[in-house]
Amino acid sequence: MQFNNSPDVLIIGGGINGIGIARELAFRGVSVVVVEKGDLCSGTSSQSSKLVHGGIRYLEHGDFGLVADACRERFFLTQNAPHLVSVQPFILPIYNTDKRRPWMIRIGLFLYELLALHRRLGHNHMISVSKALQTEPLLRSEGLVGAAEYFDGKMDDSRLGIEMAMQAREMGAKFLTHTPVIGCHIAPNPEVNVLTDGTERTFTPRIVINAAGPWADSILGMTGISKTPLLKPTLGIHLVTRPLALTHALLISAASDNRVIFVIPHDGYSIVGTTDTPFDRSPDTAAAGVSDIQYLVAEVQRVFNVSLGPSDIYATFAGLRPLLRSSATTTAAMSRDHALIRHTANFMSIVGGKYTTFRSMAEEVATAIMMGLDRPFSGTTRGLHLPVGPFPTPETRRRSVVDSARYCIRNEFARHLSDFLRRRTDYFFRQGNGLEVVELVADVFASELGWSIDEKVRELSSYRQSIGDMHQQIYDAFN
Ligand SMILES: Cc1cc2nc3c(=O)[nH]c(=O)nc-3n(C[C@H](O)[C@H](O)[C@H](O)COP(=O)(O)OP(=O)(O)OC[C@H]3O[C@@H](n4cnc5c(N)ncnc54)[C@H](O)[C@@H]3O)c2cc1C
Repeated sequence: MQFNNSPDVLIIGGGINGIGIARELAFRGVSVVVVEKGDLCSGTSSQSSKLVHGGIRYLEHGDFGLVADACRERFFLTQNAPHLVSVQPFILPIYNTDKRRPWMIRIGLFLYELLALHRRLGHNHMISVSKALQTEPLLRSEGLVGAAEYFDGKMDDSRLGIEMAMQAREMGAKFLTHTPVIGCHIAPNPEVNVLTDGTERTFTPRIVINAAGPWADSILGMTGISKTPLLKPTLGIHLVTRPLALTHALLISAASDNRVIFVIPHDGYSIVGTTDTPFDRSPDTAAAGVSDIQYLVAEVQRVFNVSLGPSDIYATFAGLRPLLRSSATTTAAMSRDHALIRHTANFMSIVGGKYTTFRSMAEEVATAIMMGLDRPFSGTTRGLHLPVGPFPTPETRRRSVVDSARYCIRNEFARHLSDFLRRRTDYFFRQGNGLEVVELVADVFASELGWSIDEKVRELSSYRQSIGDMHQQIYDAFN
């Protein structure tokens, strides 16, 4: 594949922010290359709670601007990518031991709706205890003193990112995946060294964007521009459990630390999360540990009439919030807002923020770049619809597993088994974790990508090993 070695813009990181900026720039006719060390969205952008939300809990910190921006983007996403983003009703149960009292919830709901203006997704209101129990029968009734119903969005985070990348590619953006940046020099002119298929290659773009999420400080370190870290990442893990919530997602207050935890229904499973603990190791080592799993299991068992065992937990996943360093004393109080840092005229970092607001962040970055390149621009991606491919739902992808695997390799940048089983389909999240189809899928990959027998065996054992290690942690959490 031929690439322009001197594009206008080179973006480091193929998470939702890198992809979003590439899409925004391609839409405006700028030549752009994205380099990603792994698969697209293999970092934080596939480890989110999968909510397209205004962030009701940020109201407690007075982050009204962030909530209003997120509510607006939430609305655009439900309009522009309805096959991947849907309206999700929530129940917020209030127990007599909760610190958040019904009157506080009432005010919060009112503000949440007000900040969404005419772009709300439904009418937020208080509901009776009996209605809450009728709707979600597994909820514990003892101590339940009230409940509220409100509306947010739910998404397939990795597919949304990958389909956005496909759209950006259609508009001229180039993506190099499994291509780590190994050197980045900014002065006197930008020079970025990458490793692609074992060969070193140098790009000389006009502008470099650091969109490496939790890895942003390591890129900054390569440039020598600053030794002061931008980030203070926190780890968030999720459990994938047997179905607990049926139609409504639940927002519960954790008894141990008053944090907010979501239990979100998906087709055939529930997602429970998340945690928020300081993390200072390499971002490559983020994983769900035993104590994180125990914390979430305890909170779920407090609010639901269920007793969970290892076989009720189908999977875990973990990611790092690329939060901006701040003087906040608790992780919950650290701002979820983003920052665009212009280190020099031709090097910027974009850090923090939420998945939901990626488009407005990309718009801000693209505007700064257009000014830097001295190019006029007009138009907005606000109303840009995402095309629907031949396998529009998780169910259609599972039903035609061979065809959809082939399609993903040929069209959706898939190169490894986990690219397909974790980020382009929902096999990983389901009971069985895709082990029931992994041989079949490996055959498709081997024939499409020309894998040798050894490569196929390595891929199979790497996928099986990762599933085995994950279940060992789950088992250890109960023993
Ligand atoms: C637990 C958790 C739950 C969340 N839930 C939600 C939610 O429900 N809704 C919401 O709106 N937001 C949520 N967020 C926030 C959201 O997921 C993140 O803000 C967003 O995904 C960050 O995207 P990013 O592109 O900046 O980072 P990433 O997705 O991490 O992308 C950075 C990319 O850079 C690549 N990279 C790193 N180093 C190099 C290198 N040397 N060379 C090339 N590439 C490199 C990485 O491989 C990675 O793919 C959540 C975050 C966490 C952690």
